[in-house]
Order: sequence, then C-alpha cells, then structure tokens
Amino acid sequence: MKIAIIGAGISGLVNAYRFSTKHQVTVYEQTKQIGGLCSGFESDGKYIDKYNHFFSKFDKELIELLAELGISKKVSWKKSGQCLFINDQLQDLSNPFNLFSIKNLGLLDKIKTGKFLVENLFSRMNMELNDKNAEEWIIDQCGIAAFNLLFKPLLNFKTQQTEDISAMYLKARLKERKNNIIGILDGGMHTLLIALRDRLHKNKTHIWLNSKVKKIMRDDKNKWQVVLDTGSEEYDLVIACISLADASALFGGNPGFPVPEYLSVGSWVLDLNKPLNQKCWICLVDDQQGKRHVVVNTQPLDKDNRAYFTFYLRNQSLNQQIEQEMFNACCDALKKINPEFNQQWITQKTFHSDVNVEPVFTQRFVAKLYGAVESFNGLYLPDLVYMPQLLKTINTSIVKSLIIKQRIRKEFKI
Ligand SMILES: Cc1cc2nc3c(=O)[nH]c(=O)nc-3n(C[C@H](O)[C@H](O)[C@H](O)COP(=O)(O)OP(=O)(O)OC[C@H]3O[C@@H](n4cnc5c(N)ncnc54)[C@H](O)[C@@H]3O)c2cc1C
Repeated sequence: MKIAIIGAGISGLVNAYRFSTKHQVTVYEQTKQIGGLCSGFESDGKYIDKYNHFFSKFDKELIELLAELGISKKVSWKKSGQCLFINDQLQDLSNPFNLFSIKNLGLLDKIKTGKFLVENLFSRMNMELNDKNAEEWIIDQCGIAAFNLLFKPLLNFKTQQTEDISAMYLKARLKERKNNIIGILDGGMHTLLIALRDRLHKNKTHIWLNSKVKKIMRDDKNKWQVVLDTGSEEYDLVIACISLADASALFGGNPGFPVPEYLSVGSWVLDLNKPLNQKCWICLVDDQQGKRHVVVNTQPLDKDNRAYFTFYLRNQSLNQQIEQEMFNACCDALKKINPEFNQQWITQKTFHSDVNVEPVFTQRFVAKLYGAVESFNGLYLPDLVYMPQLLKTINTSIVKSLIIKQRIRKEFKI
C-alpha cells in the first residue's frame, strides 16, 4: 500500500517505522528537520534538546522500542526530585510523607491529601473521572487549602485556569512520575530520532523536509490526494501525525472532528558555569505577575550545568516582549532556587517556542475525545485516539501508533 505520513515528530516517525518494512511510505515534514517537539540544536558540535525530555519505567512501549532499535544501552535511570515553591520556600514533594513538613496546611488536610495521593498514584484510571471536574474532585477529597496550595499550581501551570479541567487529566498528571526514577537518553532525544531515521532510510522510506502539506482530499478513485505547494500525490492511506488544530487546517477549518484549544510553549535553555543546586531538578515557581513556570535543572542528571525554564500559554502567541519577560522571570526563579545565582553564571542562552503543543484537556473536550472516531475512510488521526492516560508524551505517541496499526490491519486486512 502507498501510505503518506504527515509530520516527522516522534509520532510520524514511529508510525512510518511500523509500516515501512512492508509498504511504500512517504513522510512529509514542514520544517527543515525531523523530531518536532523532540528536536534540538547543535552547540559546539554537541546536540542539545530544545525541550528537556525524560521518561519513566512505566513507559513500557517506549522502553520496548528503544530495545528494538538497539539503543537500550543509551538509557540511564536517575533518581529525581520534584519541588514546588510554597510561600517562597522550596518544598520537596517527591514523596507523600514530605507533606508533613509543609507549614501552611492543617494536620487533617495533610492526612487527607497523603491518603488521596497514595490511593491515586497507584490505582488504575477510573472512567468516571471523565465526568468529574478536577477542582471539585480535589476540594472534595483533600480540602480547599490543599487544593490552593498544592494542586492549583500544578493545574495552573499548564492550563492557566482550573475551572473546566477534567479530573481524568489531573490523575494522569499525578501518576506521570510516581516513583521519581526517570530515564534519560545519552545524547538526548536526538539518539532516538537518528535511530528511527536510519531504520526508515534502510527501509527506503523517503522523508521530505521543508514540505508542508496544505490540503488533503478524497479523489474520484477513492484515494487521498496529499497537496503541497509543489504539487500533489495520491495515497491509499494517510496518517496525519499532527495536532488536531493543524489537521483542521488541512480541511479548510471544517474538519468534522473535535478541535480543542491548544497550549503554546516557550522555553529558555541556559548553560551555567556553576551548578545551580544538586537536589532540585524540577520545580514550579511563580513570577511577579503570578504566572507559573517550570524549571528543570539537569545538572544532577548530566555533566552539564544546564537549566530549562519553560512556560505554557493558553490562547496567546509568543512575541519578543514575552520572551524578554520570560528571561527576567527565569533569572528571578534561578535566584529563588540558589540565592547566589547572578546573570554572569550564564554562558549561553537560547530561546525556543512552538504553537499547538498540547490540547487543553477541558471536561468538554475529554468527553468529545472519548466518543471520537479517529479514522475516516483511510485517513487516521493519532491525536484523536482516546487513552485514559491523557497526557501527550512520547510513550502515548508510541502506544497510539500501535493502536493505529491494529485499526489499519483490521480495516484493510493488511
Ligand atoms: C517543554 C516540553 C517538555 C516535554 N517533556 C516531555 C518529557 O519529558 N517526556 C515525554 O514523554 N514527553 C514530553 N513532552 C511531550 C513530547 O515532546 C510530545 O508528546 C511529542 O514530542 C509529540 O510528538 P508528535 O509527533 O505527536 O508531535 P510534534 O512533535 O508536534 O510533531 C508534529 C510534526 O508535524 C509537523 N507538521 C505539522 N503540520 C504539518 C503539515 N501541515 N505538513 C507537514 N508537517 C507538519 C510539525 O512541524 C512537527 O514536526 C514535552 C513537550 C514539551 C513542549
């Protein structure tokens, strides 16, 4: 079969890989490089991820893929920490027992929250949470003080507001790194991208870079026409490994599937000439406008003193002013983490941003996603596949590629 893959992010590359041995696969990527959000940049001959990526021991399908590609030895497992600034104090929340050291939370609330965390970190996803609102769920289980102090920052950080967010999404976020052991790849995500690219080349799959797909349409032979500025090509199947917002544009904005609101992301990568802190590798901080940012300190994980400072925006595009404000907020945050920090510590800084990065998992969108059809006469949209683990991670992309492969096998008997 002749298969077109739109997008050479991790999802596009893995979907292409699944079909490349037996079918004629072509990948179209609008930018000049593969990898999408997992891509990076070169500095002094070394490759650096533009966003910091890690995974967990629960990311079974990713671990299997790394083995299949022969790069398991490139993985190191490290103990990590999670911190939150509470009343300007760095609070280590790596395990539920640390709740007892939080000053502004009553004993009963600490016990309720500890019980809630233990129950929810290790229990299965419960479909009833689809109909629940995250804020109401937490207030009911842990009390309003715990919600405001601990959970609201976690929700606010990505979604910018908490009122309409699904309880299912919050549970997925809590479960994300329940054992604080994280996997990192030597050479970053580039190592995985290169291994996938080499397999695709070996299987004679062509990856067209700088090739934005403008439109897709069904032709009178019941095939799909993939339209680019340079012309169009006919395919039996199309797998569009792009956000639902980008996919919607391929149908002139009238797609026939749910399109949620998306978050954009901005991130500073800072190389420092001194270690920031040995303990904290990820934490949430507020800037002076009360916006939340995540700081990932990779120093305890890597030889380099590198800090990633990331923030998400809802309904807003990035501009130079925001970029500068973010840099100032970044310096304030680093000073909070290590009071000795000053800008002379920074030896190199780069800024990266992307739009349509992750859907906002409102209750309304989750309900629509749960009932959505993800294939339309040979057009497949991995981002429409519903999984209780709602987060958009590398592992979810891999799981979705397996689900798509099964669907295609069933529908086309291949
Ligand atoms: C700051 C940050 C930190 C993260 N950290 C982690 C982490 O630690 N662990 C983890 O598992 N996940 C993490 N993620 C999530 C992870 O990066 C994503 O889930 C994953 O990379 C998504 O892959 P994708 O292929 O679905 O999408 P993308 O990477 O967005 O790829 C889509 C590709 O399609 C291309 N495209 C779009 N439209 C068109 C078109 N019309 N024609 C041709 N090409 C098109 C785009 O250019 C892009 O290359 C993080 C994400 C961010 C932003």
